[in-house]
Amino acid sequence: RQEQYRELRDKPCVTRDGQPIDLMINAGLVIDLPHIDDTGSSGIGLFRTELQFMVGQSLPRTSEQLSLYRTVLDAAGDKPVTFRTLDIGGDKALPYMDTIVEENPALGWRAIRLGLDRPGLLRGQIRALLRAASGRYLRVMFPMISQVDEFDQAKLVIERELTYLRQHGHTLPERVDVGTMVEVPALLYQMDELLKRVDFVSVGSNDLFQFLFAVDRGNSRVTDRFDTLSAPILRALRDIARKANAAGKSVSLCGEMASQPLGALALIALGYRSLSLSATAHGPVKALILDLDAKKAEAMITPLLDAPAGSVSIRSKLMEFAEAE
Ligand code: PEP
Ligand code: MG
Repeated sequence: RQEQYRELRDKPCVTRDGQPIDLMINAGLVIDLPHIDDTGSSGIGLFRTELQFMVGQSLPRTSEQLSLYRTVLDAAGDKPVTFRTLDIGGDKALPYMDTIVEENPALGWRAIRLGLDRPGLLRGQIRALLRAASGRYLRVMFPMISQVDEFDQAKLVIERELTYLRQHGHTLPERVDVGTMVEVPALLYQMDELLKRVDFVSVGSNDLFQFLFAVDRGNSRVTDRFDTLSAPILRALRDIARKANAAGKSVSLCGEMASQPLGALALIALGYRSLSLSATAHGPVKALILDLDAKKAEAMITPLLDAPAGSVSIRSKLMEFAEAE
């Protein structure tokens, strides 16, 4: 099968009925970089910058961050890379940093919350990103945004750093797009305001599902209690895609759901045209896409989502559809 996927590498990623799908990979370390090309992906849809902070013995210097980001952009060449700013804190604690004990770390002082409260760290990272992307296209994405004003504040850090670098004679990136993860349910009810501000959004389904169902994503005792391919989740995902598409803002999904062929099928049926997944899932998902009729998939899923929740197993219907395709 590996052989078969290698053959797909250079084929355009287009559904049977002609819908182009951007299939990107998730990455975080230098060892991930060869997969940009060996999968034939269209870029890195999620670069998890916290990994550099987690594998090291101490806080990486700005120069070390800059050097990694430059290496990543060099490896990607003309393909876009979406860098997510630090998602640390909570369960992703840094061994060398003073930690505070929290009763609910997933709901605690993490990601952009920490970034905004300790702006030195975020500022240093943004500066490293902007300098690494000198003369090039840069995409920056913030994790765990739950209110639009957090996005505004985080974006202001980028604007200030751009001004600083300009004043100091640095060559700025050719273009900077700024977006956010959609992974906190509260953001679903601020989509109109959010979409006016962002250049793009990417759904973090791992956290979004955890918070929608109040189920710890790492606790197998409870994760099996809910189905990711069920009405509440698929309706939420459909709303996000509809609103983003209507606003003309690009929308992607970069959680585990995109790595599962049935998940990817559901997402395309819901209107997603960009997915970011683990490199190992790229081949199988691409194979599925090439065989898929997106319009037919949409027509199949719409009545299932409009039916009363729980009245049909959407998962079984998706499976039947995939087998018949
Ligand atoms: C997510 O939450 O779906 C996501 C992609 O980010 P992470 O898994 O790093 O929290
Ligand atoms: Mg997340």
